[in-house]
Amino acid sequence: MSSRLSKAKERISNNNDMSSSVLVIYTGGTIGMKEDPQDGTLKPFDFSQIKEEVPELNKFKVKLDSYTFSPLIDSSDVEPALWVNLAELIHERYEDYDGFVILHGTDTMAYSASALSFMLEGLSKPVIFTGSQLPIGVPRTDGKENLIAAVEIASAKKADGSAQVPEVAIFFDSRLLRGNRSTKYSAEAFNAFASPNLPPLAQAGINIRYNNDIIRKPKGGVLKVHSHLDCRVSILKIHPGITPAVARHSLCAPEIRACILETYGSGNAISKDWFLNIIKEADHLGKILLNVTQCKSGTVNMNLYATGATLKSCGVISGEDITTEAALGKLFCLMGLTDNNEWVKAMLEKDLCGEITA
Ligand code: ASP
Repeated sequence: MSSRLSKAKERISNNNDMSSSVLVIYTGGTIGMKEDPQDGTLKPFDFSQIKEEVPELNKFKVKLDSYTFSPLIDSSDVEPALWVNLAELIHERYEDYDGFVILHGTDTMAYSASALSFMLEGLSKPVIFTGSQLPIGVPRTDGKENLIAAVEIASAKKADGSAQVPEVAIFFDSRLLRGNRSTKYSAEAFNAFASPNLPPLAQAGINIRYNNDIIRKPKGGVLKVHSHLDCRVSILKIHPGITPAVARHSLCAPEIRACILETYGSGNAISKDWFLNIIKEADHLGKILLNVTQCKSGTVNMNLYATGATLKSCGVISGEDITTEAALGKLFCLMGLTDNNEWVKAMLEKDLCGEITA
């Protein structure tokens, strides 16, 4: 295990007679925060205090262990190093548990869940992210429901003993969403996450109803962790008034290997020569250019309008209906595997783990 993890604290439950086992990994976020009486700001507290607030966790017929990252972080401070630590921890404990729950701040949860989906190749067990909009110690908290349901989903098995949800997913406000299809949608509502291009994998009501038609089947083989990430990616959101200097820097700077173009509608951008010349320059420099729509739902279709078709002829790849969060994780992971940009481009067009509608 990496040295960054060695500082983490661990607590193992005594319930060895349970039929399922889940490791709850606590990274930080609102779910585990408490008001500091000194200055009134929210500060993270220990996982044992979460268990005190949610005694229902002790009633589960699940062997529940916890692993607490140190220091706990507000997810605005998440860096890819945390994803590597999470992936390595899951890999190391993979045979010991039926599923994993990751308690994580909501701000970057969709980024982390997306990245993990690409980093954990051959996953056959649930990795369920959850968190909350209100701290768990607050009377109206959404954290209890989210945590309890996430544990239930992470431990759920089919009749043949295999995992009900062998995917990286986010459970929030009664819905289970595929991690790499999710995006944080509301800064306030309990229903904070959306999966605009894929229905929920499950819906929690009186029962948890699984949408087995879209839950992915494991491909078989052993879990392989891709822990080398190449983060030389820029994101250029196309907007009226964008200047050539800004566009050129995001697309052509030597420190950038790939650029996610957040385009209008079905993949359209500026059709003026100055902009297309910068795109061509980036393509000639060998940059990887990925077209993702800035719309909240729907797909890129570069054959629909002339402006989209021009981008395609300049070497821009269609991201189809991928989210920006998933595009980032996919690029980091693929680029970390090789220096061959042509291979990365070819893989971007493929659905690797349910991130695009094939
Ligand atoms: N800033 C917090 C975080 O992302 C917000 C949250 O947990 O909802 O860690």
